[in-house]
Amino acid sequence: MNDRLVSVAVPVPALGLLTYRVPPEWPMPVPGARVVVPLGPRKLTGVAVGQVRAADVSFTLKNIVQVLDDAAFVPADVIQLTQWVSDYYLAGPGAALSAALPPYGLSHRVDRFKTVRVVSLTPAGLDTAERLATHPRCAGDDGQADGPTLGSKQKQALQLLKAVPDGMSVPDLAERGIAAATVTRLHGLGYVAIGHARIDRDPFEHAVGAHLPAALPLRALTTEQLAALEHLTPLAAAGAFHVALVHGVTGSGKTEVYLRLADAVRRRGRGVLMLVPEIALTPQVAALFRARFGAAVAIQHSGLSDGERHDQWHRIRRGEVDVVIGTRSAVFAPLANPGLIIVDEEHDSSYKQDETPRYHGRDVAIMRGKFTGALVVIGSATPTLESYANALSGRYSLVTLNRRVLDRPMAEVQVVNMREEIAAAGTEVVLSRALRQAIAARLDEGQQSLILLNRRGFANSVLCRQCGASLECPNCSVTLTVHTNHDRSSRGSEPAGWRGRCHYCNFTRLVPKVCEKCAAPYMERIGFGTERVEAEVRAAFPAARVARVDRDTVRRKGSLVAMLEQVARREIDVLIGTQMIAKGHDFPECTLVGVISADVGLGLADFRSAERTFQLLTQVAGRAGRGERPGQAIIQSLVPEHYSVRLACDQDYRAFYEKEVAFRRAMRYPPQVAMVNVVVRGRTFNQAIDGAHELADAARGGHGFVVVGPAPAPLTKLRGEHRAQFFLKGTSRKAMREALQLALSRTPALSKRLSVDVDPLTML
Ligand code: ADP
Ligand code: ZN
Repeated sequence: MNDRLVSVAVPVPALGLLTYRVPPEWPMPVPGARVVVPLGPRKLTGVAVGQVRAADVSFTLKNIVQVLDDAAFVPADVIQLTQWVSDYYLAGPGAALSAALPPYGLSHRVDRFKTVRVVSLTPAGLDTAERLATHPRCAGDDGQADGPTLGSKQKQALQLLKAVPDGMSVPDLAERGIAAATVTRLHGLGYVAIGHARIDRDPFEHAVGAHLPAALPLRALTTEQLAALEHLTPLAAAGAFHVALVHGVTGSGKTEVYLRLADAVRRRGRGVLMLVPEIALTPQVAALFRARFGAAVAIQHSGLSDGERHDQWHRIRRGEVDVVIGTRSAVFAPLANPGLIIVDEEHDSSYKQDETPRYHGRDVAIMRGKFTGALVVIGSATPTLESYANALSGRYSLVTLNRRVLDRPMAEVQVVNMREEIAAAGTEVVLSRALRQAIAARLDEGQQSLILLNRRGFANSVLCRQCGASLECPNCSVTLTVHTNHDRSSRGSEPAGWRGRCHYCNFTRLVPKVCEKCAAPYMERIGFGTERVEAEVRAAFPAARVARVDRDTVRRKGSLVAMLEQVARREIDVLIGTQMIAKGHDFPECTLVGVISADVGLGLADFRSAERTFQLLTQVAGRAGRGERPGQAIIQSLVPEHYSVRLACDQDYRAFYEKEVAFRRAMRYPPQVAMVNVVVRGRTFNQAIDGAHELADAARGGHGFVVVGPAPAPLTKLRGEHRAQFFLKGTSRKAMREALQLALSRTPALSKRLSVDVDPLTML
């Protein structure tokens, strides 16, 4: 048989690639073209992935219904990338494809675009406008002439439109004082035609720093920036795949290096893709790129409205931009021919998607570079152990920036041993004496402070002092975090009681005044979070302008940007927050960084906890003294002697790397080995652990890896489901993948109660 078969990915997570027949009289759809296919009783739009050999197929196939595109709708290298994601992360092709599609997916209806009404003169309108210009009274209020009577606004509108043959949009007319009603009236008279034009929703309208001057003066590069570019520019020009790690201390001017490289690559006619970790960070970096490259920059991140993201995606696809900046999912942007892919702050855990497909944006970026022959630059002041190991082994080249620009000093770091503070001031102490004094000094001098505590809420939990009962989430195996309850109108600053909230499933309830187990009136709040720090700072410095940034205060879209702008405008004296404030923000006027409980992360049963603590402390200390005045950091810790705290204070990355990598080697953890985490859920714990045993046993026995577990997951209950987990650990990712694939195919009943995480970032 002379079959012409095509494999099609449909954006349905549970489905694999589907095979269809292409009718003989049709051309074969190119990879990346959208095709409409029958699926059961439905018709679905999918993407052609490639041709299938007839010999591989043994059953009767349906015909595709329609081919929507002559050329690729999703670029071929992105299709290739989604297939890699699907294989590597053991996610279905449908799930991987969905990650690469714009909002509204494959729909080909143009009404997803925003349109405006455009008003232009008809011949009759033009005629009248011309007569008005020569004989103003002719069609005037007296109604003498052959035309109808026109009001002054209507005349004004006709005259305006006469000057713009292509017409003007209704909003533009409104800005010039012509109301919609006037337009309607002129339309009724047959003087104007109303058409529609597509406009792109522009996310830069609301961006931080969007008010930057159109062209910033080019600065003289530092010696280290020059050396970095001397190394990187030829690599970018070579047009071949290569990965370079830029390890540059905070404030060393990495962004300027990226900008110059991007410029060089654009001039050679290739695209630039830049990934950044956080939504809040994107506008700042994006605004810098916009200032340098103008309208050739598109931005893609989940903080945009669906409409904005949709429009940006299509702008990129139409080839209207050659620079794309965005968060994780922008790695799939339909940018043609990327020649440079930058992953800024490559250590940031927000690059890892925590739902299927559980991909890591940096690793996908590297694969995309491989498929398109691009230079991939990954940058950080605190690279992941994985990336640094690759740089030391020679797989990546290493570029180091050891000094801040203009020889600004690194912040001076002081560690406060909180055991001593507790001895002096009691267990309730939140702000050490040194930190209080330092904040007071900044307030006196009109400078800003930043206070980090990587824990939300007012208190960690409540505990009955009589019977030891705590308040637990009914759906998850965690205690409820205590938040200030602002629900009822609170008098003065006194909150209306306390509210417990689960940080996993959002279950909330009021905290009872008496224990529900033993009726004793001794419910005590244990530990503290950012809300408590805010209360302490406000109490200690009533005149200070204080703001708090954490997930509770930035729920609303745009509120983080608004708050950061307030900080930038110096309307805030003390900014308190979680790790959100530790990211790459550049606050030149901030000269003090305080860290409360630097060791919060160290108590977690996760082999990466030391690495994460080191990164967070180094990054947040790097926020101080980025302007002309030198900075100071005060780090409060109960375990100041821990190497992650000590070496972060010394800002000694290399020493930390050596120590940590030795630990990982001894314990056989990444980057020494690769890991895959499998969680099985169940209605009961037995159901979960039995399923995990069945799957783990089916996966056991291969070469190049071991199966560890099963055991209860650290969160044994989550959102009402019980959970058990096991790990695969070994040097051969391929062997682990194949063993798991086989095991999964033998236990199909488990597929719906399962999540597989390849290269998991967190063990919790
Ligand atoms: P990093 O990302 O390495 O932490 P940035 O790229 O944010 O550092 O740069 C830190 C600050 O230094 C920014 O305010 C930036 O505008 C400024 N800067 C960068 N390069 C230079 C230079 N060559 N001369 C003067 N200032 C510079
Ligand atoms: Zn819960």
